[in-house]
Amino acid sequence: MKSLSMEIPLSSNKVFNCAILGGGLCCLCLAIQLAQQGIDVILFEKNSYPQHKVCGEYISMESWDFLIRLGVPLHDLNLPEITQLGISSENGFMLNSRLPMGGFGISRYSLDHILCQIARAKGVVVHENCKVLDVENIQESLFEITTSQGKHQAQIVCGSYGKYTPNFAKPSVETPTKHPNYIGVKYHIQTDLVANRIELHNLKDGYCGILKVDNERYCLCYLTKASNLQQSGNDIKAMEHAILCENPFLKKYLTQSTFLFEKPLAISNIYFYPKGTSINGMLMVGDAAGAITPVCGNGMSMAMRASKLLAELLLVYFEGKCTQEALKTQYSRAWASSFNRRIQAGQYIQHLLGKKTSTHLALKTLHYFPAITQKLIGLTHGKAF
Ligand SMILES: Cc1cc2nc3c(=O)[nH]c(=O)nc-3n(C[C@H](O)[C@H](O)[C@H](O)COP(=O)(O)OP(=O)(O)OC[C@H]3O[C@@H](n4cnc5c(N)ncnc54)[C@H](O)[C@@H]3O)c2cc1C
Repeated sequence: MKSLSMEIPLSSNKVFNCAILGGGLCCLCLAIQLAQQGIDVILFEKNSYPQHKVCGEYISMESWDFLIRLGVPLHDLNLPEITQLGISSENGFMLNSRLPMGGFGISRYSLDHILCQIARAKGVVVHENCKVLDVENIQESLFEITTSQGKHQAQIVCGSYGKYTPNFAKPSVETPTKHPNYIGVKYHIQTDLVANRIELHNLKDGYCGILKVDNERYCLCYLTKASNLQQSGNDIKAMEHAILCENPFLKKYLTQSTFLFEKPLAISNIYFYPKGTSINGMLMVGDAAGAITPVCGNGMSMAMRASKLLAELLLVYFEGKCTQEALKTQYSRAWASSFNRRIQAGQYIQHLLGKKTSTHLALKTLHYFPAITQKLIGLTHGKAF
């Protein structure tokens, strides 16, 4: 890494207040909030906009006002408001419930693109197709960021690169993870499902979510253990046939819908666990600080909420009212108090929906106790922010 970073020249002598590594949902939200307050921000995204992403595309209503304040014209996008939930077991039982807070469906293709346009309009310097290769803390409050398009300097670096930790942010000795390895697969489809309903269908070692998003499309996205794909000869279609179609509801969606992508969008090596809010002097936000299984925690809302926590603390830092050390400590505390309860609740629900028979029994029991069902759902949604 060092030799590579020495070969790449500094792109300009400007020292930005803040560099953001990654251009996903959380990164863009953080960038916009800082730029709105006059902070100089540079952001690097290794891909380009707009782009499809593996994500269930359900956003809990807690984030609605926040996105409006950032300038996302949610009212004009004709988005489906989701108020009903159906959860099915592989045995073919469906638990129906009202969603106490509810949410809305929007594709990442649209949302990330809109946020990028807002960020640029607010003065954020966005570099697309620009991969961050290395970050060095060269002196106090001065970082050098080496990218595929040149070197840049900034006082603060926020790591918001999502679920895959790049080499420069990995500890020198990595401890092997005991957490299971998941894969995620997503399609946009046209299908028969009412617009105000999200369905979660259990399958072996995972689940599949279906809901309406923008542009008259539905998002069908599932998560399962990587071992299931391996057992199906690494063939996604074979795995869907052997595993997903065991659930009669899913069989219907997989065999009777129109698929709008030429091939499935798939990602592998997904692990869900907290990773920490600072690494090598950088502040971590969004999935880079730790991902939660989507069935349990509304990862996008958590990522946006974390961007708000961090933006508020960074503004105090840039006003000269606290040191970098104090900033790191306060951010770590704020992150824990906002998310630890939700992560624990997520682990509990994950347990409840873990196995075929126990899931079936849990859903059948919850059918008779709607108040408990509402309480459990409530644990996965936070308050509006
Ligand atoms: C299968 C699945 C379904 C999900 N469904 C839902 C759901 O329905 N609702 C919900 O709320 N959450 C859901 N989530 C979680 C949600 O997708 C994440 O929590 C959210 O995307 C986190 O946003 P982020 O900005 O932290 O990361 P990302 O959106 O992943 O953004 C990170 C960005 O960094 C870029 N990047 C990475 N490395 C570099 C580098 N070296 N240089 C430059 N750029 C880089 C990437 O290209 C990417 O654009 C789901 C997750 C999965 C896996």
